[in-house]
Amino acid sequence: METGIKVIPHEIIGCDPDSSEKCQCQKRKSLILFTTFISLESPLRCGDCFRTIPLYNIPKTYDDEYYNILCWESDYQSCDQLQMNCSVGEHFATNQMSKIDSQLSKQGIKVCSEIAKLTKTPTFYYLYRSSGKSINSERKRTCPSCDSTWLLKEQIHSRFDFKCNKCKLLSNIAYDIRNNTA
Ligand SMILES: [Zn+2]
Ligand SMILES: [Zn+2]
Repeated sequence: METGIKVIPHEIIGCDPDSSEKCQCQKRKSLILFTTFISLESPLRCGDCFRTIPLYNIPKTYDDEYYNILCWESDYQSCDQLQMNCSVGEHFATNQMSKIDSQLSKQGIKVCSEIAKLTKTPTFYYLYRSSGKSINSERKRTCPSCDSTWLLKEQIHSRFDFKCNKCKLLSNIAYDIRNNTA
């Protein structure tokens, strides 16, 4: 039936130039929903190696498609772009990416729990942190959801300093602080 919507099948047409960047782990202990404005890759990452996982590797998450993941990804990338440009809507975008109760975060956390349910793998959501008061106040930050200590002994994947296993959240020490002390 002609529905007006073109479905592009996943066809293997040769060697994928990005294949070395893809996760090859046999078993994954966790997953991370993560993207940036510049990323052309899947927003799903392996929690162990942080390499990308093509969406067709996991069961369909919404109406026989990945609509909810792609929708979150495009909204997130738009916010990240505004935040990088530092002119229009920077404050709005940064809040959307940083605050746990923003529309963007709520959407992303919901997507994570959907992926977790379908893959039976804990799926983490990342809360961006751009600015803070001091390195000490940053280190003392607690999980914005359950308020427990979540500072990691060592940074993981060169970007996450905080991790709450209970709430499945990740974050970083504010970039302005880290850059000043580094
Ligand atoms: Zn992996
Ligand atoms: Zn927590």
